[in-house]
Amino acid sequence: MSDSILFWHRRDLRTCDNAGLTAARELSAKTIGVFCLDPQILERDDIAPARVKYMLGCLQELQQSYKFSGSQLLVLHAPPVQAIPQLADALGARAVVWNSDVEPYARDRDECVRVALKEKGIAVRNCWDQLLHAPGEIRTKSGNDPYTVYTPFWKSWRQQAKASPFADLDHAEGLSDREQEIARDCGAIALPTTEDLGFNWEGDLPIAPGTRAAHDRLEAFRATALDEYDEQRNLPAVDGTSRLSAALKFGAIGIRTVWEVAAESLSQARSDETRSNINAWQQELAWREFYQHALYFFPNLADGPYREPFNHFPWDDDRDRFQAWCEGKTGYPIVDAAMRQLNATGWMHNRCRMIVASFLTKDLILDWRWGEKYFMQRLVDGDLAANNGGWQWSASSGMDPKPLRIFNPYTQAQKFDADGEYIRTWLPELSSLDTGQLLSGTISQYERDRCGYPMPIVDHKQQQNEFKQRYKAIKN
Ligand SMILES: Cc1cc2nc3c(=O)[nH]c(=O)nc-3n(C[C@H](O)[C@H](O)[C@H](O)COP(=O)(O)OP(=O)(O)OC[C@H]3O[C@@H](n4cnc5c(N)ncnc54)[C@H](O)[C@@H]3O)c2cc1C
Repeated sequence: MSDSILFWHRRDLRTCDNAGLTAARELSAKTIGVFCLDPQILERDDIAPARVKYMLGCLQELQQSYKFSGSQLLVLHAPPVQAIPQLADALGARAVVWNSDVEPYARDRDECVRVALKEKGIAVRNCWDQLLHAPGEIRTKSGNDPYTVYTPFWKSWRQQAKASPFADLDHAEGLSDREQEIARDCGAIALPTTEDLGFNWEGDLPIAPGTRAAHDRLEAFRATALDEYDEQRNLPAVDGTSRLSAALKFGAIGIRTVWEVAAESLSQARSDETRSNINAWQQELAWREFYQHALYFFPNLADGPYREPFNHFPWDDDRDRFQAWCEGKTGYPIVDAAMRQLNATGWMHNRCRMIVASFLTKDLILDWRWGEKYFMQRLVDGDLAANNGGWQWSASSGMDPKPLRIFNPYTQAQKFDADGEYIRTWLPELSSLDTGQLLSGTISQYERDRCGYPMPIVDHKQQQNEFKQRYKAIKN
């Protein structure tokens, strides 16, 4: 029997700091990577072209890393439930190793692959890699339950010791020419392009694909923005956040590597102010874990609201208003600027994600699931747990002890884009207007016509009252 091990990459597109790959390499020097382009995922109607492009860029670099180490990354384009066991069997692999996931689809799929491998007598080994703490490691002291409120989760999570990064796969043995032929017979293909897969993304990406770019970004963020993170992170015109979200989503960088940088910076910080800024960033990394734990323990979040009364919320059904929101034509400058940033770059600043999500749900009174899906269709970092968590938080339907938040788009713009710089960047047609007009929305019909910019499609105050009444009704 061959002593080869297949390592199945999914959202861990790197050879360094990879828990499962390290475990695979410990089992055998002959460790071969495999990635399966899953038609069931690629044929969904919420796949963002920017995300596909980013993923393929990561895979391209990953193939190079394998080559450099002496092995190969095989690429399949077929349902993993059949393709992975078939390939492992044909190559006589002793085991298939992969990192576990929290998403309901991935968990079901993995179970089917595990059963199929077992039937063929092939061992399976799984590790947790994408989180600093696996689901189940952080539980309430009182009932040993998963947390449903962030703050106590964070307090418990921060106290637990964090693992150090795993070593790089520096040397591995690959497949012989004959075995590569067998792999091709089993469907191994050259890495396709974004267009080959039926997607097209011509815009820039907020971060270049791959591990090298992610590490560079992390270093640049540490050097220039981490120490001021809490002060700058809410200003969308400032490059004050890490922009690592796509890299974390696809595992172009390991979470332990990211945490180590934050922890080192914290230990070297010379003032309480710096410590507090770094701490704020660590809390964002913990939000990421909170939502992943939530999805793992409450998989129904993927289908609907956490809070039961929201199953009966009377959302409006106005497709025209939804379209205006999608296109950035609501007549509210901060909302429209944010939607245009999303449409042009596949990324949106976190403050603006909260503003546009509040606007969709509280001003347009449209179902948060419409917005959740649109985000997934556009975001380079689109991630079920984080996106669903963010949308449910904004809609008031999620895990939040103080759920009724309504953002006033004008106040938000005045606080977080005080010079109107972000609005002017994304709404160039309004660039000649003075800042006061941009922030307060007091733009006359004449000016709007002149700039080709629409009147507000709803009245904020009126809609706010309407939402509150409907909210009160479902609560009672
Ligand atoms: C409605 C809505 C939808 C969202 N959809 C997504 C999504 O699909 N994918 C996604 O990664 N994030 C999502 N977020 C969270 C957040 O907006 C992004 O993670 C952040 O803007 C990414 O930018 P950054 O990498 O510069 O973040 P930084 O501020 O540098 O934060 C570091 C990392 O922490 C994580 N993180 C930060 N904030 C959050 C948060 N609130 N929830 C979960 N993780 C967080 C991300 O992995 C991020 O890269 C959403 C937020 C909202 C309000």
